[in-house]
This record gives sequence, structure tokens and C-alpha cells, in this order.
Amino acid sequence: MGTKSQSFQPLRVGDAAAAPAAAAAATRRRPDRVTSILDLVGNTPLVAIRRLTRGISPRVSILAKLEGFNPGGSVKDRPAVWMVRNGLRTGALCPGKTIIDSTSGNTGIALALAGAALGYPVDLVMPENVSAERKRIVRAYGARIIPSSPLEGSDGAIRLCRSIIAAAPDRYFKPDQYFNPVNPLAHYEGTGPEIWRDTGGTVSHIVAGIGTGGTIMGTGRYLKEHNPHVQVIAVEPDDAWHGIEGLKHMASSIVPGIYHEEELDRKISISTDSAYEAVYRLGGEEGLVVGQSCGAAMTAALQVAREIEEGVIVVVFPDFGDRYMSTALWTGWDDWYKQARPAV
Ligand code: PMP
Repeated sequence: MGTKSQSFQPLRVGDAAAAPAAAAAATRRRPDRVTSILDLVGNTPLVAIRRLTRGISPRVSILAKLEGFNPGGSVKDRPAVWMVRNGLRTGALCPGKTIIDSTSGNTGIALALAGAALGYPVDLVMPENVSAERKRIVRAYGARIIPSSPLEGSDGAIRLCRSIIAAAPDRYFKPDQYFNPVNPLAHYEGTGPEIWRDTGGTVSHIVAGIGTGGTIMGTGRYLKEHNPHVQVIAVEPDDAWHGIEGLKHMASSIVPGIYHEEELDRKISISTDSAYEAVYRLGGEEGLVVGQSCGAAMTAALQVAREIEEGVIVVVFPDFGDRYMSTALWTGWDDWYKQARPAV
């Protein structure tokens, strides 16, 4: 299975581009010249939020970590590359195997990128009704889409993926982001040290949404080890039928194996409407067009900011907004704009 031609030589562990470069990346800036696109994963910038913060104490700052600057366009490049490289290191992924997973979101794009850069075929199982732009992006990276029933949603994709692997277990490598400890490890080794470094150790709060929980678990763990007073704050949608792509409502979801709620200081629930409104305001007032989970994280960060007199709040923005232009996020923008600026 897979789409790569036989003449394409997959990299093996020990090859320069397969070496685990990311551990070293946390201590240095993004390089100007690289041998593999994967070496550009991480070292994303922090940008100060300056207008949405009106009314909060002048001694509180909010810094957004812009994960959309990763080469695959999202925070998921970090765990995807780490899990794939770890597969190479352990031998679970070797020439002849195909990377497979059931994901239509940012992880699928990130795995497709990693597979393309390392020379491994990638099969992504996703419901047939996933947006056209999503399908095009992963195809552009050379991945193959295996359509599952649109009526069965992501659970149907999970089941089909399991049955494909069960039929030929030696043929596939499944990164398993919900249970693979290398997912939070990518953040413990990358996102956390970068935030510590780029705030000069002054970070007081870390705010991030929960999808698999990899970002908040790994980043929070690193920061707490360096300063036990850092507040680790997770963000989730306030109900099961939310429209905040990328985030999970924990009470109604299968809890990921890597998610340990007891390590959090706090969890904040955000409504879809307030997440979308924050996205619209970030675009028009900060020049940051971002995804809906960034809006949720921003709303939570503002809530925290209003409660304190002093602090440095780092909020993780997982991606930019251009990949959601055909979703309810942007189709709802016109109504919001008319209501927010009735004179226009
Ligand atoms: N936001 C978006 C847009 C995502 O794709 C994800 C990953 N599902 C997250 C937030 C949450 O990240 P994590 O899986 O690390 O919890």
C-alpha cells in the first residue's frame, strides 16, 4: 500500500535527516539553512497581544506562541515528527512500511509532511465528507486518503483504520497520538524549553487547548519542573456539540491515555461563540488570523489575565485561520461583523 514509487529510498535511522534533531532545537534559534524541512519544526515565535488586553493590569502580559509557523502549519508537526522519528529509532518504522492513522485534522497533515520528507508512504483514513481543502492538503504531501463512511464520523475512521492494520499488521506503523508518550515528550523537549528561553524564565501561566492533551501535558510538565509556581491551565469546549476544531470536550470523549488531569492547575471551559468572536477580534485588532482553538485559548487567557495583577501568560495558538475558510467559523463572520460594526 502507499503511494511512493519503489525507486524512492526511505531514510533509515542514522541518516542525517532522520536523526532526532528536535532535542537540540530547543536550545537554539530556528536555523537559516537546513537539509530537511523537518529541521524547521519548532522554534516558533511569541507575539505580544496588545489590543484585546485593554483593561487588564499593565503588569500582566499575554504572549501568543504562533505554532502556525511550523512547516506543516500547526503545532501537530512537533509530535508527528517526534513519533515518526521514534518509530525509526525503535525499528517499528522501517523501509517497506506505511505510516497509517485515522485523522482528518492537523495530525494528518503533519504525518503526511513527515512521511514525504523521510520517504515513507502515508495512508490517512478519514470520513468521506471531510472538507475538500483538507483532502487537497494531504494529497499535496503525497499521502493517500482511505475514505470511511461519512455517517460514522471519526469513530468510523478509527474502526476502519484498526481493521486495515489487523488485516496486515506488519505492513503499517501507527503513531497512535492519543496513547504515545512521545507526543507530550515532543512538547516537553521543544515547546516548554522554547517558552522558558523566550520569556527569560518569567512565564507565570501556560494556557493551551486539549485535543490529545500532548501540548498542555508536555509543556506544563517542563515549565513546572523549572518553576513549580507556573500555573498550567487547559482549555476545553463547554459542551459536546461544539464547533472548536482540534479540541475535545473531555466529559463526553474517550480520555486520551497521555492525558493526566491531576497535573493541571485548572481547566477552563469556553463556548464556541466566544472562541469564534476572539478569532474575529484577533484578525481585525491584532493582525492574527488564526484557527478556532486559538480563539478558545485566547478567551481563557483573557479570563486569567483579568484575575491577576502581575504575570506573563503564554497562550499556545495551534494554527492559522486560512485552513478553516470553508468552515462555520468564517461563514459566521459576516453576521458577527454586521452586528459588531453596524455602521458598515
Ligand atoms: N488546536 C488544534 C487546531 C489542533 O489541531 C489540536 C490537536 N488536535 C489542538 C488544538 C490540541 O493539541 P493537543 O493534541 O496537543 O492537545
